Amino acid sequence: MRQRNKPWAKEKLAEYPQYVIQSPDQWKGKWHEVFEKNQPLHIEIGTGKGRFISGMAKANPDINYIGIELQDSVIVTALDHIIEAELPNVKLMNVNANDLHTFFEKGEVDRVYLNFSDPWPKSRHAKRRLTYKTFLKTYEEILVDQGEIHFKTDNQGLFEYSLTSFSEYGLLLKYVSLDLHNSNFDGNIMTEYEEKFSNKGNRIYRCEVQYR
Ligand code: SAM
Repeated sequence: MRQRNKPWAKEKLAEYPQYVIQSPDQWKGKWHEVFEKNQPLHIEIGTGKGRFISGMAKANPDINYIGIELQDSVIVTALDHIIEAELPNVKLMNVNANDLHTFFEKGEVDRVYLNFSDPWPKSRHAKRRLTYKTFLKTYEEILVDQGEIHFKTDNQGLFEYSLTSFSEYGLLLKYVSLDLHNSNFDGNIMTEYEEKFSNKGNRIYRCEVQYR
């Protein structure tokens, strides 16, 4: 997601510690203390402008959510959604997903969402894809046993690559749709990219996979 540089973004993120977790490594092993209620924790990696994570938190008050995004100039828009919605069950982290194991203990996360992850189409950049095997290992290190990844994209190449990567890693494929918006899947919450690309006529692919 290319975004205009916003030099004030870091400062604004720091002004809302109740929503944007500062020094998230200090909460490793005790994330339940960060939220009002001790309930399952779902994280979205590459949360972008946050429409999905705030929509999910509103629709599912019995789940805690964390949106993780690398770029401060992007996540600051997610913060605006969350300030407006005043939800107790959603937080943000302005960090790189490479470091997830420094923030979460094994078994602390119940589900990982990946939505419209950067495709990195050149094969020499495959290691940067959020469904590359090293990322799958990182997710395994923080997820509960039999934890799940739910993945959506409009990028056919990334979807095909990811299905192979999941399969080679030994993940169980529980659900797949090659045309989400014309499927019987209930309760879809659109992301910013999903709206943009489906408006252009792109098909949306979705799958759910589970660690064994
Ligand atoms: N999920 C949003 C959506 O569907 O509208 C944003 C999609 S955008 C194509 C991908 C986002 O993932 C970008 O904002 C990017 O900064 C973020 N991202 C990519 N790699 C990341 C990483 N290693 N850790 C955290 N965020 C990352």
